[in-house]
Amino acid sequence: MECGRCVPGRRSCGTRCDVTSAPDVIVVGGGAAGASVAYELVKRGLGVTMIERDSIASHASGFAYGGLFPTMGAGIPGPILSHAKRGISLHKRLAPELEDATGIDIELRAVRSLDLAVNEDGYRHLQESVKWQREEDLEVDLLDADGVRSEEPSLTGELTGGLVQRSHFEVDSYKYTLALVTAFERAGGSHQPGDVVGLLRDGDRVTGVALGNGSSVPGGSVVLATGPWSGDGSKGLPHFPVKPKKGEILRLRFPGRDFVHRISLAGHYIARKPDGLVWVGTTEEDVGFDDRPSTAARDSIMAGTLALAPVLESAEIVQHTACLRPVTSDEMPILGAMPGYDGLFAANGAGKKGILLSPVMGRMVAGAVTGNSGRDPIPVEFDAARFTYG
Ligand SMILES: Cc1cc2nc3c(=O)[nH]c(=O)nc-3n(C[C@H](O)[C@H](O)[C@H](O)COP(=O)(O)OP(=O)(O)OC[C@H]3O[C@@H](n4cnc5c(N)ncnc54)[C@H](O)[C@@H]3O)c2cc1C
Repeated sequence: MECGRCVPGRRSCGTRCDVTSAPDVIVVGGGAAGASVAYELVKRGLGVTMIERDSIASHASGFAYGGLFPTMGAGIPGPILSHAKRGISLHKRLAPELEDATGIDIELRAVRSLDLAVNEDGYRHLQESVKWQREEDLEVDLLDADGVRSEEPSLTGELTGGLVQRSHFEVDSYKYTLALVTAFERAGGSHQPGDVVGLLRDGDRVTGVALGNGSSVPGGSVVLATGPWSGDGSKGLPHFPVKPKKGEILRLRFPGRDFVHRISLAGHYIARKPDGLVWVGTTEEDVGFDDRPSTAARDSIMAGTLALAPVLESAEIVQHTACLRPVTSDEMPILGAMPGYDGLFAANGAGKKGILLSPVMGRMVAGAVTGNSGRDPIPVEFDAARFTYG
């Protein structure tokens, strides 16, 4: 029975009637993207069920470095920059909000990054970076080789200079994602295990999801935040132009006080984290959905690390992780209403910036679902409508 105030299959009235058993929104995926959207939706008063087939933050969102870096990566300088800056200001707001709601400290902290140059071309590139970053009010200092060594005496390899970034922050990506889901549940959201294998439809209208165990979950709208698996055409879900980009990280035990900066050169980085371990990474590989740590990646990371800091030869590897970044064909996120479907939304494709951008993505997608974008409308370069989904 409907009570008259409900919109069947779309929205419950909040009183006791048959329609109230269906959530307003189903969010598929319990990584940073899904967690952020789900949290923003319950804050707007909607009934939300999150469905995750493994466990919360059990893929890239739980093992990422957690860097909030507005100065590097695809679309920077360019269309991602303003969203990256907004991401940092939202993380600053979220950290105390989530700690109040859940008791979980997401370990947001300012970090100093030191980008190195080892030849004249590299140094010229740093000089160009200083120019555009200062124009964007990002704090940077250019150092010569002696300046770098006085900051980080363990860097004994060839150097021509370095750039100290003072606009960088980081979080613990696992604690961050877990805190979002915990806050979501405490605000009335629910989370259930399940492998979503298809959509329930009434014509173009999406009315819920089908699970791998043969059951189904009805819901008013569905948000797909399924990370790299959204590009896995084997399921009965729309096929996104998203590919998995594998990345691996080693955690090293190396007592001492050095590596106070996050040091990076050509894709390799060295950073001491609050847990005292020195994290070194990373790799970028197109190897499908294989997310097992490999000896080849371990050796390549260690070779890059030792070229920068031979002192780490004696470090002990205590953890080696591998996971998959969701990367789109144009390296921009895919957000909002999906063309060809009524009531289906995307929150995906943040690539190497999914922790940084997730608070922005959460607000943008929640705005699209509720029809009230506030100050976070989906920009055209992120709009899901730029693609078709087979
Ligand atoms: C080595 C490495 C380092 C990184 N460092 C940084 C960094 O410093 N800063 C930064 O901002 N980003 C970083 N990233 C990127 C960031 O981790 C990702 O962009 C982000 O975690 C993606 O989040 P997501 O929620 O889209 O995907 P995921 O975290 O992959 O979550 C997707 C979830 O959906 C679930 N799922 C998929 N299909 C289904 C289904 N059919 N039914 C139910 N559940 C399903 C999966 O089980 C998974 O839990 C890094 C990534 C890697 C690999």
